[in-house]
Amino acid sequence: MMDRRGVLALALSGAAAFVTPKVQAQKAKARTRIVFLGTKGGPRVGVGASNPANVIIVNDTPMVIDCGMGVSRQLVNAGVPLPSVKYIFVTHHHSDHNLEYGNLFYNAWAAGLSSPIQSFGPAGMEQMTKDYWQLNKFDVETRIEDEGRPDPRKLLIARDIAADGVVLRTDDVTVTAFRTPHPPIVDNFAYKFETPDGVVVFSGDTNYNPKLAEFARGADVLVHECLYLPAVDRLVLRTKNGATLRKHLLASHTTTEDVGRIAAAAGVKVLVLSHFVPGDDPLVTDDNWTDDVKKNFSGRIIVAKDLMELNLPV
Ligand SMILES: [Zn+2]
Ligand SMILES: [Zn+2]
Repeated sequence: MMDRRGVLALALSGAAAFVTPKVQAQKAKARTRIVFLGTKGGPRVGVGASNPANVIIVNDTPMVIDCGMGVSRQLVNAGVPLPSVKYIFVTHHHSDHNLEYGNLFYNAWAAGLSSPIQSFGPAGMEQMTKDYWQLNKFDVETRIEDEGRPDPRKLLIARDIAADGVVLRTDDVTVTAFRTPHPPIVDNFAYKFETPDGVVVFSGDTNYNPKLAEFARGADVLVHECLYLPAVDRLVLRTKNGATLRKHLLASHTTTEDVGRIAAAAGVKVLVLSHFVPGDDPLVTDDNWTDDVKKNFSGRIIVAKDLMELNLPV
């Protein structure tokens, strides 16, 4: 496979004249990259950003982190063939992170999946997977019989994560889970991906947790959730369950100012803000998201958008 330097050398040699732009674009893809698929925190489906999901692709192996509503469509939009997905990691069982878990697998199967997908998540993954097959028994059995498809139930291998530690080791990547509080949920994990091109940590949903900074220490990229307080106060005014919702949001998420503290303590090269709460307030600008982060963190900050890509090394 040709790396970027190879493509550049080809271009400089003049041979690029024979390479179509499309082929060049494909060859220029970095060995390791992240695509932010859905950046809006919370389960509400809107016209703007999609619900939480990310994918990290190493050597053409896509690993999906969280399956908020829309993850399948966003992978397709990102040019990631669904049957190429090999691993799914769910951070916790709030529906904005798992609602499309089974359906993502199903959609990969419908698109011709023939090799297994392994999924990992807190207690409940294995049961949820069994329940999914119960829910879709009729369709799946009909298609196996009627269309000659392989039995998908054998192709989805789910595993509950009980404790912190390495959950996956391949030739390319080591994935480590780290429990972080997201009240009232305790079965909730951040994930670290050690790739040949750098270390990436996804905070998942978390309250302000200095221990997460230790877990992310020295990472090249930290993708952290964030909460913008002034907009939460506006949200509270227009929501019926406003007061209770505000209490939940403050207890279970991390304010932008505290995200800066975590990134600084971890000493990461790049901080990516995502899982925006609220994620659909048109009055909130990119500067609003970063201003309070900058009080504590002086490194590079990226405000993630749906389908934005970040190549590694950074
Ligand atoms: Zn969430
Ligand atoms: Zn959550």
